[in-house]
Amino acid sequence: MNILVLNAGSSSLKFQVIRTDEERIKSDSDQRLAKGLVDRIGGEAVLSFQATGRPLRRTAAPVRDHKAAVEAVLRWLASEDAVPDLKGYRDIDAVGHRVVHGGERFTRSVLITDVVLRQVEDTIDLAPLHNPHNLKGILAVKDVLGKDMPQAAVFDTAFHHTLPDYAYLYGIPYPLYRRHRVRRYGFHGTSHRYVAYRYRKLTGKTREETNLVTMHLGNGSSACAIRSGESVDTSMGFTPLEGLVMGTRSGDVDPAILDYIAVKEGLSLRDVETLLQKQSGLLGISGLTHDMRELLAEEQETGDRRARIAIDVFCYRARKYVGAYLAAIGGAEAIVFTGGIGENSPEIRRRILQGLEWAGVQLDLEVNRRMVGGAEGPICAEGARLGAWVIPTDEELLIARDTARLVLGLESRY
Ligand code: ADP
Repeated sequence: MNILVLNAGSSSLKFQVIRTDEERIKSDSDQRLAKGLVDRIGGEAVLSFQATGRPLRRTAAPVRDHKAAVEAVLRWLASEDAVPDLKGYRDIDAVGHRVVHGGERFTRSVLITDVVLRQVEDTIDLAPLHNPHNLKGILAVKDVLGKDMPQAAVFDTAFHHTLPDYAYLYGIPYPLYRRHRVRRYGFHGTSHRYVAYRYRKLTGKTREETNLVTMHLGNGSSACAIRSGESVDTSMGFTPLEGLVMGTRSGDVDPAILDYIAVKEGLSLRDVETLLQKQSGLLGISGLTHDMRELLAEEQETGDRRARIAIDVFCYRARKYVGAYLAAIGGAEAIVFTGGIGENSPEIRRRILQGLEWAGVQLDLEVNRRMVGGAEGPICAEGARLGAWVIPTDEELLIARDTARLVLGLESRY
């Protein structure tokens, strides 16, 4: 089956076309046929399309809205010989969507029906920054390809549905949970789930033997404690603002800071939240950039003090979560790094893991240095009591597989 995977953001639409089915899933031989991005939807957009093994094709054109973006992708897929092996969009068998928030209702991926659409709409007030855009992607496909095209929703929150109540409840009055659904949901679930699956594949462990701390470090970052293959705690909370220090998000702060800053700076609470979302984290501390690669270069080339502090705060927070999650799991077998920073920065991995020798971490510095640019494997010294791995994430692959399994009526375990 050819699955179109869509990830609709506020002004962008990312896509991949992945060929998969029961046999390919079993033999790990799914095929990526194409990928691309429509950026700056709503104005003069930049469209980047690439068939696997072919050069990237970049153009600019006005793209009004998400429906127009979906049409542009399909038009490209249908154009003469754009993607070898694909005879236009009639060859697309189903569409899988990344949906950020599934609330408490969605504990796994589902085929989209009118009822599901209404239920996803029902979670909009929980994820006002994300779910409306994901919904636009679903409606755009329905408009363009018709209601008979099977569509599936794969939720960022679903992998964390196994969190026990003592991990997902905050220390606030219980009725706030009952009345307003205020609790930890966790995000990046598809990524944490993928690397846990991949770790099992690479090591031959069973699900029950899979005890990991997974660290997804990118522009958004989160940690996950995985016991017996299931998520038992995760650092993002009611929203993706909690937990690790991120590119522009603060991660954990004392909630009393919000009112204090509002009063001192003459801001509304909403403005303060925006400040924590968009002007904090690496950008806020350094005053330079949200981009870890640029910060590392700045630190090295100019010795900039605030660049150094931003990186140290990032690494220290990450290390604290590793320690906390080792305690939550009751001892893990490995720490797994993924995401743009986790996959590409030996320096950040080293700085996070330094001082964790007591827990059994022993980094092989040479192997760690080489593990970049999509490489996959262990970075710990042989015989280390606690492993350390780099596993590049592939959320699109899981979305494609979940979609194929749902359409084919196959069992899928989280
Ligand atoms: P997103 O959360 O938007 O998907 P990514 O997972 O692509 O983000 O991660 C982006 C981050 O990864 C940026 O901070 C970028 O600087 C960082 N990054 C990418 N390559 C490197 C590198 N070689 N060294 C350090 N950081 C890197």
